[in-house]
Amino acid sequence: MPIASVNPTTAEVLKTFLPLGAEEVESAIAQAARTFETYRLTSFDQRAQWLENTANLLQQQRDALAHLMTLEMGKPITEARAEIDKCAWVCRYYAEQGAAFLRPELIPTEASYSAIHYQPLGIILAVMPWNFPFWQVFRFAAPALMAGNVALLKHASNVPQCALAIAQLLSEAGFPKGVFQTLLIPGSAVADLVADPRIQAATLTGSEAAGKSLAQAAGQHLKKTVLELGGSDPFIVMPSANLPQAIATAVQARMINNGQSCIAAKRFIVHEAVYEAFAEGIKAAFEKWVIGDPLEPTTQLGPLATAAIRDELHAQVELALSHGAKVFYRRSLNLPSHCQQGYFFAPTILTEVTPDNPVFTQELFGPVAMLFRVPSLTAAIELANATPFGLGASAWTQENDEAEILVRDLEAGAVFINAMVKSDPRLPFGGIKASGYGRELGRAGLLEFVNIKTVCRYGDP
Ligand code: NAP
Repeated sequence: MPIASVNPTTAEVLKTFLPLGAEEVESAIAQAARTFETYRLTSFDQRAQWLENTANLLQQQRDALAHLMTLEMGKPITEARAEIDKCAWVCRYYAEQGAAFLRPELIPTEASYSAIHYQPLGIILAVMPWNFPFWQVFRFAAPALMAGNVALLKHASNVPQCALAIAQLLSEAGFPKGVFQTLLIPGSAVADLVADPRIQAATLTGSEAAGKSLAQAAGQHLKKTVLELGGSDPFIVMPSANLPQAIATAVQARMINNGQSCIAAKRFIVHEAVYEAFAEGIKAAFEKWVIGDPLEPTTQLGPLATAAIRDELHAQVELALSHGAKVFYRRSLNLPSHCQQGYFFAPTILTEVTPDNPVFTQELFGPVAMLFRVPSLTAAIELANATPFGLGASAWTQENDEAEILVRDLEAGAVFINAMVKSDPRLPFGGIKASGYGRELGRAGLLEFVNIKTVCRYGDP
């Protein structure tokens, strides 16, 4: 089946590609393996220079790359431009910090020399999602390449043009042939790749189902994996919260990337003392959110990325309603004529989603908020943790004691107090529970794909 690039705003097919055949995949792996033999010996300075070049190219081509992303998966153009800036940031961050993170660490022992050396592993396979088509790839690629690994990218099938553009950019930046290659292949081809003895490790960002499938294949062959999976992040509001700020941030945290972010706030858990005010506040903000063509700079919410994603979200909302949930608010869509065929979804706020509702434990990947009323901090934390996921959590309080309890007790890979959860090149990012394992970003992310080698030398050198 061809791999199709479809504009979700208009449903127009932009381009189609034939998936790579077995011979082309083999030739890419062989090229990567050959390149690794020389690339692993390049200096930190050289790799840092290539990353700096990449950052410069990203900024020079910012508008065109952002436009491509918006065309291919529908994110608002202002968010697409910000995503390109963030990719440049992560390249610069590892260009500047990589050598210090990877320098041998002396550990005094009885040996004449004892130290930890950080060495690259080889070919790393990256299976990536469409929702942040550039950022997800760069946050893997910048540290992996800085550490001296080479990469094969299997990007989501609905963003083939972004996938090719990224490989082209890294090549223009000077990275040697074979350091980073895009493979246009379906998800079903991943297990065979993982089995290949030349591929040392894999990272996947995506759904639980894809994560389990990759982990299973990797387990069979004892390959290291990092999994960044879904989330159903809580957004807790306590009585002392700065309510106008909490409301404004809540809406942004739910709507960002057309609601399709793993760390979007999805469950709003509000203390009864401020529940009515918060609920009316987000309803008013949902009503004002600007929906339309994502290429318009004023648009805040565009379409969902594919028809299948829209249909799945619709089915989840129907399922929630059939199990007793109520629609507290649903926006009526008034789209420009050229967007009528697009995959838009009316922003919706659900209440009364009880623990026996199947949707209670599901991730809603789109502009649908679930609103809960709680009587206490203890109840808020209990509800926040009553999910299979554990990615991020945002909580709003001006009471120091409450903040400390939230930080201690929320089961999540990140807790943000009085702010929305966001990723940052300087800080580790990842989840616990069904949100996956391992970390990206920061030094922790860089060390996921290196051999932490113990070196002891005895006697005179
Ligand atoms: P998905 O279907 O799992 O797709 C993600 C990637 O996995 C795609 O490249 C896909 O390829 C591939 N894939 C699908 N099935 C596979 C299989 N059986 N074996 C190996 N690879 C497979 O994910 P999605 O639903 O489109 O993306 C959204 C999900 O990603 C959400 O759950 C979201 O929360 C999560 N996400 C997590 C993070 C994080 O950092 N934790 C960040 C962003 C998104 P094809 O496109 O060819 O199927």
